[in-house]
Amino acid sequence: MNLNYSVYLHIPFCRHRCAYCDFNTYAGQERAIPAYVDALCHEIRQVGHQARSMQVGTIFFGGGTPSLLSVDQFGEIFSNLNNYFDVLPDAEISLEANPGTVSKDYLAGLRSVGFNRISYGVQSANPQELRMLERIHTYTDVVDAFRWSRLAGFDNLNFDLIFGLPEQTLETWQQTVRLVSGLHPEHISAYALTLEHGTPFGKWAEKGILPLPDPDLAASQYEWTMQFLASEGYEQYEISNWSLPGRHCQHNLQYWENLNYLGLGAGAHGFVNGIRYSNVLRINTYIDRVTTNTRDGLVFPLSSAAVNHHKNTPKENMQETMLTGLRLTSAGVSDDVFSERFGTRIMEIFGKEITQLISWSLLEWVGDRIRLTVRGRLLGNQVFMRFVGD
Ligand code: SF4
Repeated sequence: MNLNYSVYLHIPFCRHRCAYCDFNTYAGQERAIPAYVDALCHEIRQVGHQARSMQVGTIFFGGGTPSLLSVDQFGEIFSNLNNYFDVLPDAEISLEANPGTVSKDYLAGLRSVGFNRISYGVQSANPQELRMLERIHTYTDVVDAFRWSRLAGFDNLNFDLIFGLPEQTLETWQQTVRLVSGLHPEHISAYALTLEHGTPFGKWAEKGILPLPDPDLAASQYEWTMQFLASEGYEQYEISNWSLPGRHCQHNLQYWENLNYLGLGAGAHGFVNGIRYSNVLRINTYIDRVTTNTRDGLVFPLSSAAVNHHKNTPKENMQETMLTGLRLTSAGVSDDVFSERFGTRIMEIFGKEITQLISWSLLEWVGDRIRLTVRGRLLGNQVFMRFVGD
């Protein structure tokens, strides 16, 4: 079992709020970025002080649009991370970026301060779909960003895509996947659109202005994607994620294997030694809480920005390990690793659920690993529900 920590840093700024987005992010507040970076460095010191020489195997800047920070601002954050944590020499260090926010020089700068992976929010290659999503970039921006990233020395790139969009057809989706995979990024993520309450998409759908996505079409798009990306040499290793051999996202694997990660920044979530916690959402409140409070009385892994925390019961840790681990379509959950971690076998705890799900052809044993069948991948949420509750 991987005992290293992962660190997630949340950057809650965007130039424009996309119509489907329900992340903790704010448009038009970029003037607060310098104070926010300063606060983030405070929080790194608060938490790092309690956890000196903790080994860190992955670092991930997510958002929001982290690529709105300057190279110097990242340099300042890395200097704090390196002072307070033992960042391993081969650590995976990722940045989420909007293709409309990067330039050749900026990407070279990111590489020079230590980033070795970029995850681009591409979403679609179709101009109408990009407009409907209110993305600020075009597909030409994506191609430029990809080319400049390679020139800067990035050999580990991800493209995020969305299917199941209103008015998207099987053909426009296929065209997007063909164009994107034709660039040969190391990793591709494809998520089905969910209409979140409170977003413009959610409101328009409630009023009937936006056609609801067709679930049958979304299922066809997903099935086609599984077949097509396999034929292009991509291995599906998670319900929504494909990679070239050896290029799984190490940071996200830490989540799916239900292992320790620190969450830093406004609205960030963390999970350390069975404690789940989350930070205050609002940018200004976060800055105030982190910069005006001292370390006194803080207990690892919480900083003064934390507003919620919960110590999991052993049963909750086992349930969450099943919920996240079953997302791993190839690896699933190893009974040996589970037993080493929890001192009991999977079937002793979840025998009834697993027997039933196998009889419905939704789960299968492969060696000591329990995992989703191909049919189970289409009905993942119904499988996961069986592991929640008493
Ligand atoms: S760029 Fe990403 S985080 Fe920002 S509003 Fe759009 S979807 Fe949300």
